[in-house]
Amino acid sequence: MKEKGLLVVISGPSGAGKGTICKALLEKNDFWLSVSATTRNPRVGEVDGTNYYFLSKEEFQNRIKSEGFLEYAEVYGNYYGTPKDSVLSAVDSGKDVVLEIDIQGALQVKETYPEGVFIFILPPSMKELRQRIINRGSETEESLMTRFKAAYKEINYVSKYNYAVVNDTVVEAVKKIESIVIAERCRVDRVKENILDSKEGIIHEQLYD
Ligand code: 5GP
Repeated sequence: MKEKGLLVVISGPSGAGKGTICKALLEKNDFWLSVSATTRNPRVGEVDGTNYYFLSKEEFQNRIKSEGFLEYAEVYGNYYGTPKDSVLSAVDSGKDVVLEIDIQGALQVKETYPEGVFIFILPPSMKELRQRIINRGSETEESLMTRFKAAYKEINYVSKYNYAVVNDTVVEAVKKIESIVIAERCRVDRVKENILDSKEGIIHEQLYD
């Protein structure tokens, strides 16, 4: 039987560096990054189908009705959702899939897919987090404060996750996530069926072939 891939959910407050970490992680590893759908407008340089699937509110609502999302959430006034079928079929075919989503979405995935690997990315400090939100430059003073306050509250959700990774440097954070993935692939509850099946297969060959 072919082993399923891992569903690795990378989440955490805005400004913790999830996006940068995921980009670096994907450059070095053969992971499959799920492209989310969103109702927000594309930023300069963003490409439909690569960064996001940019949908109208109506298209997004229709996808919700047809149960096309593994999870979805409203984040800062816009909707974001993970396409269900493509993610589940990639995992079933043995690919390790990465979702980079907000905390509300991650908690929904945990309900429906508890065998996922839930990783919470933390900023090195709250001061650094504020600076990172400012450095993005795409925020107004008001949305900056909204994101900072939300991030402050969201850090409490770390206890719902399997792993906490502090983003001191991207290189170190990526190393930690790679180590988590290696360890998760060796978990007995993930591999025992295959080990026992192949043991039985060999015995069968010895006796009957
Ligand atoms: P941005 O608009 O800056 O690209 O993303 C805003 C927030 O939405 C980030 O925290 C990002 O992780 C989150 N996000 C992106 N895609 C999804 C998704 O499919 N589902 C959920 N729940 N959040 C998402």
